[in-house]
Amino acid sequence: MSDNCYEYVEKNLSAIRENIAETAEKYGRNTDSVRLMAVTKTVPPDIVNYAVSLGIDLLGENKVQEFLSKQPVYNKAADVHFIGHLQTNKVKYIIENVSLIQSVDSLKLAHEINRLAIAHNKIMDILCEVNIGGEVSKSGVPPENLISLIEQISLLQGVRVKGLMTIPPPSNSDVFLGKMEELFNKVKSANIENVSMDELSMGMSGDYQQAIIHGSTIVRIGTGLFGKRIYN
Ligand SMILES: *Cc1c(COP(=O)(O)O)cnc(C)c1O
Repeated sequence: MSDNCYEYVEKNLSAIRENIAETAEKYGRNTDSVRLMAVTKTVPPDIVNYAVSLGIDLLGENKVQEFLSKQPVYNKAADVHFIGHLQTNKVKYIIENVSLIQSVDSLKLAHEINRLAIAHNKIMDILCEVNIGGEVSKSGVPPENLISLIEQISLLQGVRVKGLMTIPPPSNSDVFLGKMEELFNKVKSANIENVSMDELSMGMSGDYQQAIIHGSTIVRIGTGLFGKRIYN
């Protein structure tokens, strides 16, 4: 990779940090209450590590295979969350290597995470992914089934629900970010035992400032930081 590429990431990162701080301040939020995740899909590990050297402390991984190939060379200073669609039979490959799984949308998947977490003597933190726009093409639990799913997951000893994640329909993102904020507050006030609504993971390159206005605590940024992906 050329030096230019590093400069490009550095420039993008300072702009994103400035935007986060500015939006947080404008809407009465503490800048520290918004965590910036670097979404690494298709990005070579040396560029990912460069971002970590600039202070990125959270990486988002979409694909099990790609993660496993890059992970050995990652700078371990950053936490890793799994954010992609996760097949039940692949949980075993990531259970020891990520600190949180953001994309849990079924009891079946939660059961497998629970089983493996217990086998590894750990408790796995998870977020429930919500299909807030009701899009057929997207994963995520339908909003109307969310509380019931969380109640069932809350009974499992090896997993802890820490909040919610969503990818809103891009065309109408702001409306759905608002709906997501409402849903988050609703689950929070349901006060389900063993469940904490600490994290609301939403906002990507195109809508992260809107997401912060609607209470996001984790913004997940790929192209805005690393540039346009060649594949995917
Ligand atoms: C790719 C991806 C992102 C980042 O999207 P950009 O528009 O590139 O910032 C965020 N979240 C998930 C789940 C993704 O798959």
